[in-house]
Amino acid sequence: MTLDRPMIESALRTVQDPDIHKDLMTLGMVKHIAVAGDAVRLVIELTTSASPMKEKIRSDVETAVHAMAAKQGVTLEVLEIEFTSPIVETPTKPADQSNPLPNVKQIIAVGAGKGGVGKSTVAVCLAVGLARMGAKVGLLDADIYGPSAPTMLGLDHVGTKAKGNMLMPFEVHGLKAMTIGKLVDPDKALVWRGPMAHGAFKQLATQTEWGDLDYLIIDLPPGTGDVALTMSQLLPVAGAVVVCTPQRVAQDDARRAVRMFQNLGVEVLGVVENMSFFAAPDGKEYDLFGKGGAEIMAQTMGLPFLSSLPIHMDLRRNCDQGTPLKNWEVPSMATSLDAMCQQVVSQLSIAAIAGKAHRPTLTIS
Ligand code: ADP
Repeated sequence: MTLDRPMIESALRTVQDPDIHKDLMTLGMVKHIAVAGDAVRLVIELTTSASPMKEKIRSDVETAVHAMAAKQGVTLEVLEIEFTSPIVETPTKPADQSNPLPNVKQIIAVGAGKGGVGKSTVAVCLAVGLARMGAKVGLLDADIYGPSAPTMLGLDHVGTKAKGNMLMPFEVHGLKAMTIGKLVDPDKALVWRGPMAHGAFKQLATQTEWGDLDYLIIDLPPGTGDVALTMSQLLPVAGAVVVCTPQRVAQDDARRAVRMFQNLGVEVLGVVENMSFFAAPDGKEYDLFGKGGAEIMAQTMGLPFLSSLPIHMDLRRNCDQGTPLKNWEVPSMATSLDAMCQQVVSQLSIAAIAGKAHRPTLTIS
């Protein structure tokens, strides 16, 4: 017996995308099938850039194709699987408006109802984690009222560089980063409202030489203010992550942040519960703030729950010392952070496939 294309197609119909739970053929992810004797070549298009599910898909495809070959009495000599870039990327803006960042595939905003809940920590860890997974990542620290990136990325003694009217991003920890904290005195930015905040955000986002990026993570100021509004008008944002601590008061603020994104037409990818519990050095866990509170909030709002991160002394230390990669040297922390990154990417895939990632329409009531 020999193998033919319909047989390979039927094998691929048994392989599901782990995030979307539909088979690869139905999702249109198989872009090319070539069968010649005992050699099979496949081209598979992933649903998001640098999908962490790539290796799982590869191994499931190998198993299915080898099983089909064995059923036909064929021993496969060659099985080549090539992965290509995503089917769905950040949609471009309507024809009458130009997308100022056409080389950025997906923009993810990180927001919170109030300050101090770990929004910047999550934004930095998300950016570094996605970069560790092989993606090209940028981090835009747009928290004009309290920029953290200079400290968290260790940029205190690094100067800004410009070429012409473009700012060169800082290239650190596998990322490209830009922060308002390096451009203005945060004490002055504190009094900015409307037009000043709008201008500063626009300049940071569009006059930084980002180059080609798979993901641009935007660390927004806490609350529901001018910068989020400007962002949603200016950029095609693929989705927002809302960071919350477990306490009731934090949940109330986070709910307002969720509503703000929804009113701005930005898809909410889900909620991260930070400071979920205290992970003590002796390995014990202490429930300080009411673990699970943010998860319940996510459920009641019909939102995906992305991850819970513990209070961990190393996380605080690595943030203060500007060494975010060291978080991955703590095995339990590495597991939590990687799970968070994978969840965010999964939700982007789900939103994109469901056709929900769309250009926001401003509907403020
Ligand atoms: P926000 O951006 O919401 O204002 P930050 O990310 O700046 O909050 O975090 C505030 C402080 O809390 C920082 O010093 C940070 O290192 C610390 N922190 C945040 N999350 C954790 C955590 N899970 N464990 C330990 N320290 C944390």
